[in-house]
Order: sequence, then C-alpha cells, then structure tokens
Amino acid sequence: MTQSLHFSWELSGSGWATCRIWDGSTKHREIVSYCTNALADLLESMAGLYGPHGIQRFSFDLEPVEARWILRRRNSDVHIAIRRFPDIWTSSDAPDGKGTLVWTSTRPRTSLAHAVLMAAEKVLRTHGEDGYLQKWRRHVFPTTELKTLRHLHLAADDCALQH
Ligand SMILES: [Zn+2]
Repeated sequence: MTQSLHFSWELSGSGWATCRIWDGSTKHREIVSYCTNALADLLESMAGLYGPHGIQRFSFDLEPVEARWILRRRNSDVHIAIRRFPDIWTSSDAPDGKGTLVWTSTRPRTSLAHAVLMAAEKVLRTHGEDGYLQKWRRHVFPTTELKTLRHLHLAADDCALQH
C-alpha cells in the first residue's frame, strides 16, 4: 500500500488556479477562483494541522460551486474529505453532511504537508511575488503562510524527502 500523495497548484489564467490532488488511486481537480485568498487559506489550514484543533476547514470558490475541504487529524494521519455545494453564497453555513462527497483519502500528515509545501514553493519559483499578483490579481502571494508551514513541517514531521 502506498502512502504517496501528489498535489499541484497552477495559475491557469487571470484570477484562476487549477488545483490537483491524487493519492495513487483517485485523482481530483478543481478550478479555483480568486474570489477567496485560496492558496493562503489552504496553507493556513495545513499549518492548523500542527495545532490543538483536530479539524480544519476551508472552502474554494468555484463560481458558484463551493468546494469545502475538511481535514481531520487522526494521530499522524490526516483524513481529507472534499465536499461540494451548489452555491457558495448560500452554503457557507451548511453542515458538511449536506455537501456531495467528491474526493476522500487518508494520508500521513507529513505526506500531505510536504506535497502542499512543494506545490506552493513551485508557484513562487515559477512566478515570483510580482508575477503571482499579476496573474491572481486580488491577493498577494502568501509568503508568510508558506514560511510558517515550512517551519512546522521541518520541525514536527520526520520527513526524509528533499526540501
Ligand atoms: Zn517534507
């Protein structure tokens, strides 16, 4: 059984990003809009997995679909569930169970954090902070959030991969 997890974040157009996640068996893709500070929200929730709270949630705006990511810590693992709601304007208070489950996987926190960290660093390497703002338009690159996650991952996960 594989523990691998792959994640990518590509600025695919003005104000849009393509987010891909796959765990070796099933792939999932979302086209995320700049209506929310999506990459910052993702990195913040990842960092939250190192804190006292067992559950982290954030939502991407797929205009108008809400893609809600629910991350649950289970010891050294994280259970990831992505649920979709038809309209983010009306669903932000809706309970998780009302959404349609579109992707789920359980992976070690270190694998998830590593994959997200590498993807965000690639975005920064590819575009730089100026290029990022030009493409994403509404928010600056989340440099602080990225540094925080990198620090937590290196300090708390026994990650043998290259950084
Ligand atoms: Zn790592």
